[in-house]
Amino acid sequence: MKLYDTYTSSIREFKPIDGNNVKVYVCGMTVQDSPHAGHLRTFTSFDILRRYLEYKGYKVSFVQNFTDIDDKIINKSKELGIDWRKIAYKYEQEYIQYAKLMNFKEPDFYPKATLHIQEIIEIIQSLINKGFAYVSNGNVWFDVSKFESYGKLSKKTIEELISGYRIEPDSSKKNPYDFALWKAYKENEPYWYAPFGRGRPGWHIECSAMVITHLGETVDIHGGAEDLIFPHHENEIAQSETYTNKKFSNFWIHTGFLNIKGEKMSKSTGIFLSAKDLLENYEPNVVRLFYIKAHYRTPLDFSEELLNDAKNSWNRVKNFLLEYSQDGKILTDILYKFEEAMDDNLNTPKAISVIFDAINLAYKNREIAIDVSWTIRFLLSILGFDINFQRTSNRLNEIMDIIIEIRHELRKNAQFELSDRIRTRLKDMGIVLEDTKEGTKWKVL
Ligand SMILES: [Zn+2]
Repeated sequence: MKLYDTYTSSIREFKPIDGNNVKVYVCGMTVQDSPHAGHLRTFTSFDILRRYLEYKGYKVSFVQNFTDIDDKIINKSKELGIDWRKIAYKYEQEYIQYAKLMNFKEPDFYPKATLHIQEIIEIIQSLINKGFAYVSNGNVWFDVSKFESYGKLSKKTIEELISGYRIEPDSSKKNPYDFALWKAYKENEPYWYAPFGRGRPGWHIECSAMVITHLGETVDIHGGAEDLIFPHHENEIAQSETYTNKKFSNFWIHTGFLNIKGEKMSKSTGIFLSAKDLLENYEPNVVRLFYIKAHYRTPLDFSEELLNDAKNSWNRVKNFLLEYSQDGKILTDILYKFEEAMDDNLNTPKAISVIFDAINLAYKNREIAIDVSWTIRFLLSILGFDINFQRTSNRLNEIMDIIIEIRHELRKNAQFELSDRIRTRLKDMGIVLEDTKEGTKWKVL
């Protein structure tokens, strides 16, 4: 299996560091607001990565954090006059609800930054002791000039960094590009006590502490949306590798944006579609299909047209599976084509086309339809689709048997008006009855 690694800018063969165990850390939500469709795209990509790794037989430890202390959360708390903890908790719970709705496999752990303050303080103290961080006006800054390979993930040079900081440099920093590990206490803001002064952690150090606490000093995969490459992940590498003297992550995986009319979906620009609006109009399977019809690294432009395409495609799959709902066997040629696509840096657009080609083939050659259907159900479950409607359909089979039997009795007793009423009412629901020589058959339109 090959994956694209941002750090080496290459597609590399994926091998776990430790036998069969794969440690994955994904940067989660800053819980200051409700999730939008862009967030759901990112986490769908990582859900599929995790599920596919598990399908390949790896034992995956999957950790996704909540950033529950942040300027935006504090500002919102001041604005609304509500305790910042209540705001963070509300949006955490909201995210978890959407994650369940989207059928994201639950992470092994959802750590929160504020529950790791002691670990954060310990790392910062060690960075100060090593001479890589300095205290200034109650803030603790990471001295970027000390970390030789700084910029390696984002491919930025120190010169580029300097020119990138046109804004007035913070007077307490040695260099404008030094970043905050600890922010000095400000009045009416949450704070914790530390040997270097009371205050609160910077965003980047929180993730380093959570990774090291829950997964250890080196992970197999660290990921997030591509806007986290710089500065967030670049800074995580600098501080973590200085602290541990070890490589922080073997692979860096970043997902492309969901755009609206070419612009990145974002709360700060006001250009976004909320998860609520999206999922009120489209079922989660359709949303998942819409996302993965594009490769996870490419930008995807949101459009009603593409979502409706996904809806039609999903109905086609669903109808096929309902029509051929019996148990069959796995057709390995389809499975191998699917694996070939997924092994190639999770090429989901190709994997999806394998599924649709198989359906087309089955409609032409009905003898294989049951086995194709069985195989597709298996592939869809690897991709995280919720195919529980299959179970419902078994109940539907039983219910339809009863209805057909009663209708048959009615017709035998010349109660045609009632039997026709059953037929009409079912047709309104999209279920068509066909009276054939072999008896009455039914199908879902
Ligand atoms: Zn992070």
